[in-house]
Amino acid sequence: MNKPLALKEVIADKEFLAKRLRSETSGEVMTDAASRGRYATDASIYQTMPIAVFVPKTAQDIVSAIQIAADLGVPVLPRGGGTSQCGQTTGPALVIDNTKYFRNILEVNLDQAYVDVQPGIVLDHLNAALKKHQLWYPVDVSTAAQATIGGMAGNNSCGSRSIAYGNMVHNVMGIDAWLADGQVASFGLMKDAQGKALQLGQFVQSLAHLHQAEIEEKWPKVMRRVAGYNLDIFNNQSERPYTQDGQVNLAHLLVGAEGSLAYYKQLRLKLSPLPKHKTLGVVNFTSFYEAMDSAQHIVKLLPSAVELVDRTMIDLSRNNPAFKSVIETALIDVNGKTPEAILLVEFSGEELAPLEKKVKDLVSLMADLGHPGCVVEMIQAEAQKNLWEVRKAGLNIMMSLKGDGKPVSFIEDCAVPLESLAEYTQGLTEVFSKYGSRGTWYAHASVGTLHVRPILDMRRDGAQKMRAIAEEAAALVKRYKGAFSGEHGDGICRGEWIQWQFGPKLTEALGEIKHAFDPHNLFNPGKIIHPPKMDDASLFRFPPSYQVIPLKTSLDWSSWNVQNDPVTEETTAPGTGGDPANGFAKAVEMCNNNGHCRKFDAGTMCPSYRVTRDEKHLTRGRANTLRLALSNQLGQDALLSDEVKEVFDLCVSCKGCKRECPTGVDMAKMKIEYLSHYKKKHGWTLRDQLIATLPRYAHTIAAIPGLAFLLNLRNHWAPLAYLGEKLTGISARRSLPTWRRDTVWRSNLGCTEETLFASAKPVVLWADTFNGCFETENIQAAVKVLEASGYSVHIPRKTDGHYCCGRTYLASGMVDRARESASELIAAFTRFTDKNIPIIGLEPSCILTLRDEFLVMNFGDTAKKLSNGSQTFEEFLVSEAKAGRFTPNLKSCEKQILLHGHCHQKSFDAVKPIITLLKMIPNAQPQLIETSCCGMAGSFGYESEHHEVSLQMAELQLLPAIRQAPDAIVLADGSSCRHQIKDGTEREALHVARILEMHLK
Ligand SMILES: Cc1cc2nc3c(=O)[nH]c(=O)nc-3n(C[C@H](O)[C@H](O)[C@H](O)COP(=O)(O)OP(=O)(O)OC[C@H]3O[C@@H](n4cnc5c(N)ncnc54)[C@H](O)[C@@H]3O)c2cc1C
Ligand code: SF4
Ligand code: SF4
Repeated sequence: MNKPLALKEVIADKEFLAKRLRSETSGEVMTDAASRGRYATDASIYQTMPIAVFVPKTAQDIVSAIQIAADLGVPVLPRGGGTSQCGQTTGPALVIDNTKYFRNILEVNLDQAYVDVQPGIVLDHLNAALKKHQLWYPVDVSTAAQATIGGMAGNNSCGSRSIAYGNMVHNVMGIDAWLADGQVASFGLMKDAQGKALQLGQFVQSLAHLHQAEIEEKWPKVMRRVAGYNLDIFNNQSERPYTQDGQVNLAHLLVGAEGSLAYYKQLRLKLSPLPKHKTLGVVNFTSFYEAMDSAQHIVKLLPSAVELVDRTMIDLSRNNPAFKSVIETALIDVNGKTPEAILLVEFSGEELAPLEKKVKDLVSLMADLGHPGCVVEMIQAEAQKNLWEVRKAGLNIMMSLKGDGKPVSFIEDCAVPLESLAEYTQGLTEVFSKYGSRGTWYAHASVGTLHVRPILDMRRDGAQKMRAIAEEAAALVKRYKGAFSGEHGDGICRGEWIQWQFGPKLTEALGEIKHAFDPHNLFNPGKIIHPPKMDDASLFRFPPSYQVIPLKTSLDWSSWNVQNDPVTEETTAPGTGGDPANGFAKAVEMCNNNGHCRKFDAGTMCPSYRVTRDEKHLTRGRANTLRLALSNQLGQDALLSDEVKEVFDLCVSCKGCKRECPTGVDMAKMKIEYLSHYKKKHGWTLRDQLIATLPRYAHTIAAIPGLAFLLNLRNHWAPLAYLGEKLTGISARRSLPTWRRDTVWRSNLGCTEETLFASAKPVVLWADTFNGCFETENIQAAVKVLEASGYSVHIPRKTDGHYCCGRTYLASGMVDRARESASELIAAFTRFTDKNIPIIGLEPSCILTLRDEFLVMNFGDTAKKLSNGSQTFEEFLVSEAKAGRFTPNLKSCEKQILLHGHCHQKSFDAVKPIITLLKMIPNAQPQLIETSCCGMAGSFGYESEHHEVSLQMAELQLLPAIRQAPDAIVLADGSSCRHQIKDGTEREALHVARILEMHLK
C-alpha cells in the first residue's frame, strides 16, 4: 500500500522542479509564495500551500509535468475552477491549472449526441456552444459559470436536475487520461477496453467480485452517493444504474476520483436535447417538516427538479435588493406570513400543454395532501429563470454573513431516502441546536440531498463542534440508510468518513484500486485514500493560530469588524469584531473562494480576469493575496511588497465585485486602502501627481491664455506625446482630453443661489472636473433639458476652482487629500441638502463617490445625508417623471441607440434609469450592450503599460458591438468610456443629457 509523501524532501526540490518545468515545457511556472498562496484554497475551510503552480499550454506540457513530478517525487494535483467545497484541490503538490489553455471543444458528434472536450472547459461555455444544436450537457451545477468539466468529473458533481439526468457519472461516456507514468489510457466501455485500461479494469473487477457480498451490504442504495471510488460499477447498488443498457464503462471508475487516480486528458460527454418548454409550480409550506414529507409524493409526478428554499433563505433573499422582487414572485401571499419552506417543482419537455397539466396535477396533489391553495403556478419562462437564479445564489446569499462564524460545509450533502427526509432533517435540526447553532436548508429535495451548514467559528471552538455534529449526523445517516457524501465529494472534510461508510474491508479495496492506478501516490495524495482528519487544524484556512497584523486604516472598515450570533445571525455593533486591522482584514476574509468572479457572462466582474485568465488578476486572487499578506503568511511587510502590488496592477476599480461578488468583496475600495499604504511607503510618481491634482491645476490652464493650446499640441505632434510618455508614463498612443478655456466655471451657466432657493423646482447640478473642463457641452445640455422643464439649475462654484469629490486622489491612494476635497464639498453642499434640494451629477464615477467612498471617510451623518440626496442626472429625471414633475416635450428618435453602462452605474444598479429616460423619447428603442468594463477606467487606459490590456477589455464586447451598428447613436455617460470608444472606433459617444437635448422640440 502506498504511503503519504515525505513533504520536507519535496519542498527542498521546489526550485529544481521549477527549473525543469521551465526548461522542458512551454507552460507558466510559479513558485513564489503569493502565487502558491492563491492556489492554496478552494471553496472549503482548508488551506495548504502547493509546492508549485503550473499552467500548461499544451498537452505535451502536462505529460512532461507529470513525468518531471514523478521523477522528483512531487505529487500532482490537477485543478479546474477550484470551487470544491471539501478541500479536494488543496494539497502540498504541483498544482496544475487547466483553465487557461486546456479548455477546448474537440468534437461535437450530433448523430451520436456526444461531445469530446478538454477538462478545463467551463460548463456554461460548453453549453453556450451547444445551444445552436438544441443540445446541452445537463449536469447543471450551481457553479456552472465557473466549474470545469474536469473538476465536475473529478467530484462526480450533480445538478439541480439530477433526478431527471443523473450525476456526472451517468453522463460521461469515456475518458482519456494520463496515468502516473505519463502514458495515456482510454477508459470507456469495458467490452472495448484495451491495454492498460483493460488491465486496470479487470483488476478492479476482480476486487469487486471478491467483495461482492460486502458491497451489497455496505454500499448505500440512494441515488446520490459520491464517496470513494465507484467499485460498484460491476454490480450497481444505486437506485439509478450507471448506464441505461447495463454495460460496464471503465471511465466511471475515474469519475469522482478527485484527481487521485489519473489526470483527465479529454472527456466524452453524453448530450441531451434542450427541453423546449418548462413549467414551474412553487409550493408554499407553513411547516418545514411537511415540505420535506411531501417530496416523496411530489417526485411521483416525474418532475425534472424539486428544489428547496427554506424560510431563512427566503428572508435573506427578501432583504437583498437584487433578489427581493424575484423571491416574492414565489410567494402565495407577499403580505402574509412568510412560508417556512418553498419547493420549486419543475416539469420539462417538448410540448407545453402537458407540462401545464403537470402543474395542475401538482395543485391537486397538494390539496389531496392537505395543503390546498399553496402552489404558485409559474408558466412564463423569464419568471422561472429569475427564480432559479435566486435558488442558485442560495449558498452565496448565506455566505454573506459578516463575522468570524461562517456557515461551514461538512455535512451538507448527506443523502437519505425520500421517505426519511422529514425525520432526518428534524433530527439534524435538533443536533444543531444542541451545539448552539442553526442550519439553513436548501437544494435538492428531489433526491434527498439537502444542503445545510451550521454556523461555526473555526478560529475558536469550530473544530470541536464540527466533529461532534458530524458524528451525530453520521448516526442519523446510518439510521436512515443514507450516504454521508452525496454531492460535493470527499476531499478532506469527508475523506475519513469513507471507512465509516464502507467499512475496513472495502476501504482496503479502494486503497488497492489507488495502488493499481498510482503505485507511487503521485496524484492528489491524501484524497479518498489515507485522508487526514477533517478537524486537523493545521489544514484550516483560519486555524486558531490565525492572526492578523495591526493596521491603522485610511478608510473606515468598521462595518466589517463585527461578530455574529450563530443562531439569530445578528451581528454586533460596528468596530467590535476584534480585528487588529480595524475591519479591513475581516472585509478581505469575506472571500470564501466560490469563484463566482471567474465568470464571463453578463455583468462586469472581473474584467482583468476576462482578458488574462490569470488567478492573480481575479477578485478571488486579490482577496487571497491580501488575506495572506494581512495574516503574515507572505513574510514580513508583505502588504507593501511587489507581490501584492502586482495583483492590483490590473484591477481597474470598476466596482463590479462590489455588486456581483455574492459576499460583497469590494476590491475597488480595498485598492484605495492598499494604495494609501503602499504609496505612503514607496512614494507617488509624477504621473500619480499629475492625475490626482488635475482638478486643481485645470483652472489655471483655462485661465492662462494660450496654455490650453500649447498643451493640446501634444495630441497633434507625435514627438511631444512620445516625450510625454518617457517623462510621465502616459501612453503616447492615446489622445488626451482636450484642454479648453471655456470651462463651465468660466461661464455664467445656471442660476444664482438666491434664485435656486426661491424656486419651486430647484436642483443643484454639480459640475465635475471632466465634464466641467473638457466636455462643457454635456453640462450645457443638462441645463437646457432641465430648464426646458422648468427647473432652476444651480452650478456651485468657488473662487479658486470648483468643488471636487476627490476621486482622482482616491485613485492614487491619496486618501488624506481626497478627504480634504470631500470635506470641502460636503461643507459647501450642506446648505442644499439641509433644504432637501437634490444634488445631481453627470459623471457616474464622481457623483457615485458621494454615495460610496464618502461613507467610509469618517464624515458621519453629514456624508449620509449628502449620499441620500445625490443622484445621477438620469436617476433624478426618472424619479421626477414618476412624480409627474418631468414631462419633456421630445421629438421622435430616428436612429437606433446603443447604450454602454459605466461600471459604477452598473455597480449601483443605475443603468436602468438611463433606459427608462430614453424610452421617454418617442420611438426610441435603446439597446443595452452587454459589456464589462470599457477598459479605460479613469486613468488606467492612458497608462503606457496598460494601453494594450485596456484595449483588450474594450474588444471583449464593447467595441465590436459598436462597429456592428455603424449608424447607431452611441450612449456612454462616463467620460473615459467615451474616450475609449473614440480611440477604438473613431465614433463619438454621447452623454444621455446630449441625447435628450438633441430630441428637445
Ligand atoms: C457556491 C457553490 C455552489 C456549488 N454548487 C454545486 C452544485 O450545485 N452541485 C455540485 O455538484 N457541486 C457544487 N459545488 C461544488 C463545486 O462547484 C463542484 O464540485 C464543481 O464541479 C467543481 O468544479 P471545479 O472546476 O471548480 O473543480 P475543482 O474544484 O478545481 O476540482 C475538483 C476535483 O476535480 C479534480 N480534477 C480537476 N481537473 C482534473 C483533471 N483534468 N483530471 C483529473 N482530476 C481533475 C481536482 O483534482 C479536484 O479533486 C458548489 C460549490 C460552490 C462554491
Ligand atoms: S471575490 Fe467574491 S466572487 Fe470571487 S471568489 Fe471571493 S467571494 Fe467569490
Ligand atoms: S474592482 Fe473590478 S477589476 Fe477590480 S477586482 Fe473588482 S471586478 Fe475586478
